[in-house]
Amino acid sequence: MTTTSTLSTVDTSTLRERAAAIKKQVLANLDHYLVETEKQVTAHGGHVVFAQTVDDAVDYILLLAKERGVEHFVGARATNLANDKQALRNEIEALGSDLGSYLAGRARQPDASASYQLERLLAAGIGITGANFVVADAGAICLAEDDDFGRRASAAPKIHVAVAGIEKIIPRTRDLAVFLRLLSARFPGHVSLLSGPRRTDELDGPEEFVLILLDGGRSAILADAAKRELLQCIRCGACLARCPVTPVGQMGALTRLLTPPHTASPLVHASTLCGACGEACPVKIDLPRILVALRHDDRLALGGWRAWLLRGWAFVMLRPRLYEFLGLMARAFWPAAWKGAKPAAKSFRQLWRGKGR
Ligand code: SF4
Repeated sequence: MTTTSTLSTVDTSTLRERAAAIKKQVLANLDHYLVETEKQVTAHGGHVVFAQTVDDAVDYILLLAKERGVEHFVGARATNLANDKQALRNEIEALGSDLGSYLAGRARQPDASASYQLERLLAAGIGITGANFVVADAGAICLAEDDDFGRRASAAPKIHVAVAGIEKIIPRTRDLAVFLRLLSARFPGHVSLLSGPRRTDELDGPEEFVLILLDGGRSAILADAAKRELLQCIRCGACLARCPVTPVGQMGALTRLLTPPHTASPLVHASTLCGACGEACPVKIDLPRILVALRHDDRLALGGWRAWLLRGWAFVMLRPRLYEFLGLMARAFWPAAWKGAKPAAKSFRQLWRGKGR
């Protein structure tokens, strides 16, 4: 089944509140929604596979291909994934844990011209897509794309395999009205709701539909109260667009948590904590707070002299008079520290005090 949505104009702050509430409710009852999703997908003729890791998902797809005698399969980047296990792994990782069609639309292989894609699509026995949302009550996936490659990859091959992180579940079809409206600024193109294999009265669609629900570290994030909110992310890219510092935005920090070794990106330390990402987030994730939590984790993981160095730095920075005294000492007795530059006659603090502040 394929439908294209018309998105109405609704007050954005109300939508953000609603979206955040829906996501929180899903995460608090994820076990229930996973069961409901499986039930509904099965009722629509599809099949659900729970994959603990990306490698589990890859192994499943390779086994499926072997059992069905499939020699060619395509993903969003239109490579021949059957011949390259690492490429398939990268594909699953990107589709299940990251930006889905957002990346797909922007990271086409150089040789992925329209005719190349078409050729691959027609030859493929399995088409692999991600999913922006998994709709529990419909047993369906929702693709929001700025091109229609996902839709074609899901319709042309005999088998459609959709890979989605377990956090992509939303409870009801009507919730799409909220999330698609929030996504629409970034995905102005095609919206498809796909459930199960082709029905007898449908002209196109796969003969077999498999939904792989990927954990890939999400359960661990869910169990961590300080970071659970990250799973509300709908990969809209708004934080990426607003971040004045990092080229991947705070979404990049999240992505690293979802791939082995499941540690935060070093870029969490690059943020100025200006709060722009938190303000931009349509599902109200408190990104600055989570960045601080991730930094805290990193600090706890530090050992040896670096940990002591940071402790010493924090000790001094929390004591302004000590900081000033050490600055004066450095100016007086450690000229080499200035590397030849002549220090100003008065420090900033002295100048500030001179203004009577
Ligand atoms: S703005 Fe929020 S929902 Fe959008 S990508 Fe960033 S963290 Fe995710």
